Amino acid sequence: MNYSSVFDGEHTKSSASNSTFLTQSFAATEIPRRQVKRPREYISIHKRRELFRNAQYCCEYSDPKTGTKCTSKYQLQVDHIQAWSLGGSNNIGNLRVLCRAHNSLAAKQAGLSLGK
Ligand SMILES: [Zn+2]
Repeated sequence: MNYSSVFDGEHTKSSASNSTFLTQSFAATEIPRRQVKRPREYISIHKRRELFRNAQYCCEYSDPKTGTKCTSKYQLQVDHIQAWSLGGSNNIGNLRVLCRAHNSLAAKQAGLSLGK
């Protein structure tokens, strides 16, 4: 039997829970930082118009297997070919016009969720 080691164990335990309490109360006052996400940049209306004109106001998605274009005109959105959150730019070359269904499909394929 070693009583001192039992006592030491108790002591360590209580000091550990103490420090946890301190960390938690400190964390609660801190604003969570998102280091991965960068803020979305506004795509100018001129750029959007140009994109829509180039796409002839149709969805630009083409089926990777058949090559068939979607050409839907329903709820068109500007999509980043390389996702913005993955470092894609707002240059015309990285943007395309997609219908809502294909925009969310493209986001899913890129491993992103739109959070809707
Ligand atoms: Zn489409």
